[in-house]
This record gives sequence, C-alpha cells and structure tokens, in this order.
Amino acid sequence: MESPCAPRSTESTPSISTTLTTPDGPADAEDVDPHFFTDPARVATAVEHLAGCMARAVPELVRTDLRQNARAYSEELTALDAELEDILAVVPAQRRVLVTDHEVFGYFADRYGFEVLGTIIPSTSSQAQADAASLSDLISLVEAEGTPAVFVSTTSSPRLAESLASQVGDVEVVELFSETLGPDGADTYTDMMRTNARRITDALT
Ligand SMILES: [Zn+2]
Repeated sequence: MESPCAPRSTESTPSISTTLTTPDGPADAEDVDPHFFTDPARVATAVEHLAGCMARAVPELVRTDLRQNARAYSEELTALDAELEDILAVVPAQRRVLVTDHEVFGYFADRYGFEVLGTIIPSTSSQAQADAASLSDLISLVEAEGTPAVFVSTTSSPRLAESLASQVGDVEVVELFSETLGPDGADTYTDMMRTNARRITDALT
C-alpha cells in the first residue's frame, strides 16, 4: 500500500531537505542534511506536507481544524522568517560567517546570506568524530578570518570549541539551540529560532 505521506505523482512539491555539496562536489546520496528546520520557510513547506499527509492517513481529521491550523502556523512561520531577517539585518555582509560544531546551519546560511566557514566535526551528525588535521586547518582559518565566535549546540560538549577558542584567543563560544528545544528562550520552535538569531547577531556585531 502506498504511504499516505509519499508525495503523489500529480503533486509538484518542493523538497524540504537536500543533499549537501562539499568542496569536493556533491556529497553521498545518503548524506542529506536533516537540519532543514534552521530555515522557517522550509518548515512552512513541511507543515503543508504534514497536513496533507495527515488528512490522507486519517480522513476524519479533514472535518476538524487541521487545514486551518496548518495554514495559520504556516503564516506564523512566514512572519517569523521576515522577523529573523530583521534581527539579522544589523550583521554586516563581511561578518556573516558561521563556524559551528557540526554541519547544522547550512539552510539557515542559504536563507539569510551567511557563509559556513567551517565546522569542528565535518559531518551533519553531531555523533561523528573530529579529526586533528581538519581541526588544525579550521583553527588557522578562524585566525586568518578574525572570526569572533564559534557556535555550539546546547546538547553537545563545548570541549573542542573551547580548545579552538583558547588556541586562537578572542573567540567567543556561543550556545545555540540547534538540535532540540530548551528552557530560557527556546520553549517553542519560533522562540528557539528568535533566540538563535539574536545570539548569532550579538556574537557577530
Ligand atoms: Zn545536528
């Protein structure tokens, strides 16, 4: 039986997450970056997909406020997208550079005109290992570019980022909610995104 969540052939829906491109060309087909939620516009698309899939899987839901709620949340996400753009507007173009603990802010960078300079763990998985040679390259890069901050997930150990910061000097280690919601400004998805945008803005300006 076809899954109610598989896109129907008549639908031309934009994909939510995409394969990463590495400096050596396209990454492995399996290496799709799962962190699409760092771009609220993609989340709005996901909400529409989910509402359609839920309506097909559980037809009774169509008689509830499902579509109306999905539309309202999608509009909230579109407003959030504009709000994040406003928060980030004060970061000058030449400072729109992110160094993160793993490959997590690619979609955010695409959406808001940032460049991911490098990551401590060269993987979309926070469980992968850093290697000494690429960490040492990253330290040189951060030094050369004068990057003021390294961003780490609230759920990851900041040990390597702190070691990088202490070797370069004058680099702040800033926690972002990149893997999960949390207390102090990340109770909901929209609050999480606002808090991240404010912390990124504060660290880079
Ligand atoms: Zn992650």
